[in-house]
Amino acid sequence: MEKKNPLEKKLCYERKLAWDEFSPESRKKTLEFAEGYKEFLTRGKTEWEVITEGTKMAEKAGFIPLEKIKKGSFKGKRVYADNRGKNLFLSVLGKKPISEGVRIIIAHIDSPRLDLKAHPVYEEENLAFFKTHYYGGIKKYQWVTIPLALHGVVVLKNGKKINLVIGEKKEEPVFTITDLLPHLASDQMKKSLEKGIEGEALNILAGSIPHQNKDVKERIKLAILEKLNQKYNFTEEDLVSSNIEAVPAGEARDAGLDKSLIAAYGQDDRVCVYSSLKAICELKNPETTCFCMLVDKEEIGSEGVNSAQSTSLLSFLSEILNLSSPKATELQLRRILSSSQAISADVNAGVDPAYKDVNELRNSPRIGCGVVLTKFTGKGGKGGSSEASSEFVAYLRNLFEKRKVIWQTGELGKIDQGGGGTVAKYLARYNCEVIDCGTALLSMHAPLEIAHKADIYSTYQAYSAFYK
Ligand code: MN
Ligand code: MN
Repeated sequence: MEKKNPLEKKLCYERKLAWDEFSPESRKKTLEFAEGYKEFLTRGKTEWEVITEGTKMAEKAGFIPLEKIKKGSFKGKRVYADNRGKNLFLSVLGKKPISEGVRIIIAHIDSPRLDLKAHPVYEEENLAFFKTHYYGGIKKYQWVTIPLALHGVVVLKNGKKINLVIGEKKEEPVFTITDLLPHLASDQMKKSLEKGIEGEALNILAGSIPHQNKDVKERIKLAILEKLNQKYNFTEEDLVSSNIEAVPAGEARDAGLDKSLIAAYGQDDRVCVYSSLKAICELKNPETTCFCMLVDKEEIGSEGVNSAQSTSLLSFLSEILNLSSPKATELQLRRILSSSQAISADVNAGVDPAYKDVNELRNSPRIGCGVVLTKFTGKGGKGGSSEASSEFVAYLRNLFEKRKVIWQTGELGKIDQGGGGTVAKYLARYNCEVIDCGTALLSMHAPLEIAHKADIYSTYQAYSAFYK
């Protein structure tokens, strides 16, 4: 409700609906932005697909691979580096010397899903299946009886990579995990939601026609392996060196009669990935050198070679520093980091009216009220969080006001209800200012996540303002 009393207006904070605050021009841009975002989500359902899409965007926007840049004068240059196809680093070099600090936005490219095991194929009761091991925090019951697609890379002993995507085109089959009929589920229905579907029951239905050769023991399994071999030329053993992910099949779609929302898989954290990519791709001649860093493995704790805890971030920063000062020391690198600012670009949970009581409503982000600035994450008394400084919050709030970015603050749920963390703390280790800033979602980590188009556009505007 709009505040009428002038004193109330002066003294009291009010959360605003972004759509109300947007000009007709901003509304138009919001809807346009959402179209590009949906295409990005549809094409980028795995880590490597997101990096491929990101690289295409970078090259189209004039970014040059790091290894092709000549040392010397490089002002205004746009550089990118791809680390093993699972990390992407982009930088636009600023007018000010890099020694005065840089601006970093970091987002993660991985999303919860079902990974095929090393020996996935088996048959039972005249049906063939793929065994999976779920990745990230999922509610297992959400992943049964929905259409799934397989996206994978199989690496042969000779190093040759075989890419496969099955289940996205109309003429292709989809995959699914079966569930018990309600008629016979009286035991299952008494179990908790956590135990109702067990991890080892997340087996993907793979086929049912037996191999014509009746001498073999497992004819349906053999028929499936033969089909894979005929089409992709790999064997059962080759699956040991593969990444095959089962993800929800189908395109990102508009949701709601007014088409104000987007329903799609993987919006945590690809909404922030896309928004930061768009912001840096459109950035021209910034004062300060800017970075966009896309990392893997956030959903399983940011461990691993392409994660926010790996030193690949430092390596890229060092390479950029090396372009201007080949004799730079580690001390210089540390000084740059100490005077830098970073945004940990990750999603937050919008209030879901069906589950209001997990929130403390005065401090929870709302869908449609703009990008969310989160001073701290963590659980159990801010545990495991890197709380941003008030100075940095003040800086950003001033910046957002100047650039007309609609924003809100938000805590993830009420105290001791649960909680979560982001990569913010791994950047904070380098002694730079860092804060979480991203889009509020409904149904986070579900096969179909929901985001508001005005929030997505506000996220992009926030990142653009930060870079500029
Ligand atoms: Mn996330
Ligand atoms: Mn997540």
